[in-house]
Amino acid sequence: MRALVKAKPEPGLWLEDVPDPTPGTGEVLIEVLQTGICGTDLHIVAWDEWAQAHIPTPLVVGHEFVGRIVALGAGVDDLTVGDLVGGEGHLVCGRCRNCMAGRRHLCARTEGVGVTRAGAFADYLTLPATNVWKHRPDIDLDVATIFDPFGNAVHTALTFPVLGEDVLITGAGPIGIMAAAVVRHAGARYVVITDVNDYRLELASKVGVTVAANTGRTTLARVHQDLGMKEGFDIGLEMSGNSQALPAMVEAMAHGGRIAVLGLPSGDISIDWSRVVLHMLTIKGIYGRQMFETWYAMSVLVQEGLDITPVITHRFRAEEYEQAFRTVREGLCGKVILDWT
Ligand code: NAD
Ligand code: ZN
Repeated sequence: MRALVKAKPEPGLWLEDVPDPTPGTGEVLIEVLQTGICGTDLHIVAWDEWAQAHIPTPLVVGHEFVGRIVALGAGVDDLTVGDLVGGEGHLVCGRCRNCMAGRRHLCARTEGVGVTRAGAFADYLTLPATNVWKHRPDIDLDVATIFDPFGNAVHTALTFPVLGEDVLITGAGPIGIMAAAVVRHAGARYVVITDVNDYRLELASKVGVTVAANTGRTTLARVHQDLGMKEGFDIGLEMSGNSQALPAMVEAMAHGGRIAVLGLPSGDISIDWSRVVLHMLTIKGIYGRQMFETWYAMSVLVQEGLDITPVITHRFRAEEYEQAFRTVREGLCGKVILDWT
């Protein structure tokens, strides 16, 4: 089969012909239809410090996918050949304290599809049946393709109640934009999203944000004033990983404000801790998706009319992967889809 392989411990990614995988006990074989490119994949291609420390080679990479089950391994009796599926990319250990207590998203020993085990940028992948999410057969295929990052957005956006609240989102990447769509759908009052990239702010405007602000040109204090807000933001969603965004968010929060941090910083970030204390802020880290409450929430949100399709801007054939990765790197895009059919 065709597969995008991290073949050697050096920068790059190679389209290779590799043996088809076979599903083990409790696993299914999935024919991949479409995949999405994630920032993690860029780290792996660039072979940065994180990638060098975590990625075994050779490895088929990629973890955002939609596909169809084509074979069942021994012991799988709750899924059917032909099912349209996605999959949770974090495989949990099942044995740590959190797993045993049913809090699988807090597992301390996860494995990652396309990170520590063979991934989805291929014609086929295997996955434990317990990680498979069965889609409604009528779901839009593009939307199903990006359930993994959509799940990051939903998990973060619904961490704190947003009904009637004023929400600040820093970072209008694909995940920030989807989070904006979710909090809007969930009844937030003002939804303010910031970035330094006008293309992405333009994209964010398509999902109904109140203000899409370029913080290279304006300040949150100004936005605040323009909206006539008397106090700060009630809810903050940090989705940039940029070292200036979280400190600015801490400044802009109301007393008792709650911040969910998804963005992964590349180093230490300094924030005004006296403000956190005196304004009684809550800051919570968010990783991945809740298994499988987030997947359930995504499905019903989409079924009920939440439209995240504006975030999908580019599509390439699998063979055009170099151009696709270049597009993601350049940042003048939303989600970029690779077609494997
Ligand atoms: P992305 O890199 O496409 O988007 C980040 C955006 O932040 C970019 O558009 C960038 O221009 C913008 N930005 C840069 N500086 C900024 C600033 N000072 N203020 C506001 N915006 C600024 O990333 P994405 O795919 O949308 O993911 C969002 C973040 O979440 C990334 O940091 C990613 O690493 C992280 N992430 C975390 C998890 C998790 O489980 N915790 C999962 C997926 C992604
Ligand atoms: Zn565990």
